[in-house]
Amino acid sequence: MKRIYVDHAASTPVHPEVAQVMMDIMTGQFGNASSVHAFGRAAKRTVSEARDVVAASLGCLPEELIFTSGGTESDNLALFGAAFAKGRKNGHIITTAIEHHAVLHSCSELEHLGYEVTYVPVDHTGRVLPEEIEAAIRPDTFLISMMYANNEVGTVQPVAQIGELAQSRGILFHVDAVQALGALPISCRDLPVDLLSVSAHKINGPQGVGALYIRRGTAIQPRLYGGLQEKQRRAGTENMAGIAGFAKAATIATASVHGRRAHDLSLRSTLLNGLEERLGSDGFTLNGSSEHFLPHIVNLSFPGCGTETMLMNLDMEGIAAASGSACTSGSIELSHVLEAMNLPEDVLRSAIRFSFGLGNTTKEMEYVAEKIATIAKRLRNRH
Ligand code: PLP
Repeated sequence: MKRIYVDHAASTPVHPEVAQVMMDIMTGQFGNASSVHAFGRAAKRTVSEARDVVAASLGCLPEELIFTSGGTESDNLALFGAAFAKGRKNGHIITTAIEHHAVLHSCSELEHLGYEVTYVPVDHTGRVLPEEIEAAIRPDTFLISMMYANNEVGTVQPVAQIGELAQSRGILFHVDAVQALGALPISCRDLPVDLLSVSAHKINGPQGVGALYIRRGTAIQPRLYGGLQEKQRRAGTENMAGIAGFAKAATIATASVHGRRAHDLSLRSTLLNGLEERLGSDGFTLNGSSEHFLPHIVNLSFPGCGTETMLMNLDMEGIAAASGSACTSGSIELSHVLEAMNLPEDVLRSAIRFSFGLGNTTKEMEYVAEKIATIAKRLRNRH
């Protein structure tokens, strides 16, 4: 059966050039970057060259970048690292209601430890208003953490504006750019940001590797203790092949960011037009912003067709999409993102996320639109 993967916001296939780089390292290099002999020096050089490349693609200095095991670790390190570096376990953090659980669950743990957290709401498009952030600032606010773009609905946030606000008040600013990397040009030099998380597997790189940008001079307490790696900010032998693969993926993603946008916009309109033709404009709703969005993430609701049933029917047609929210013990939880956007119950219960990537074609989107329409009509006729 023909299979169509439209779940790139969850993870992406490894680019063949990335796989080749990793294969070359895994079969030809095995030293520990901390060893003094020639094997160790070669490993150190590999990691250092990769750091230069990823730093260049993020517009920062190599020494401002530390490699981690992915977006989750980067988010945890940013939040706990900034909080613990203060010395005392108190103070106020601002985040938003639509963050990834890597941020939300870190925040709730920080609350247990004595910090206070404000979860700023969003509008019905999933966008945070800078005025809401400003209103939440208190004299003891030391950190604002928010995403560049949302992983479920693709809404892009006004991070530059909020960063300027944070900077003007002397508050640290952390941006979770896991979904934005590769879809938007990112420059840590130009953005008023102190900490920024990225992950390789969202940009056709390997799973289990990511990075945290830490602006020079920003105090961060490590989460992992052991060796002296990553300038004592993250102990543990470096994932050399993963890091080199990440660098290759970052190079490809950065070079193709504008071309990718055009490609994704065209896939998006093929899907939306195909659905409109078959179901009519009132046969589905687009969840998110039609102004500030990542073109590769399209979150749609088909009222009358439950999320789980629709996903299973799509899977039977070879189409891999997502609910966008966690799936626990066989039942899909309502999405905290869509709930925060205050969407009606039938929209919440019928939301599906389609996310495009490198291999997707216009023809595939026509097929996806046709299959969705057939399934939606069938499910609706049952009622
Ligand atoms: N932050 C966002 C916005 C994400 O979408 C994800 C993954 O889906 C993460 C963080 C976690 O990244 P990782 O899977 O690399 O741990």
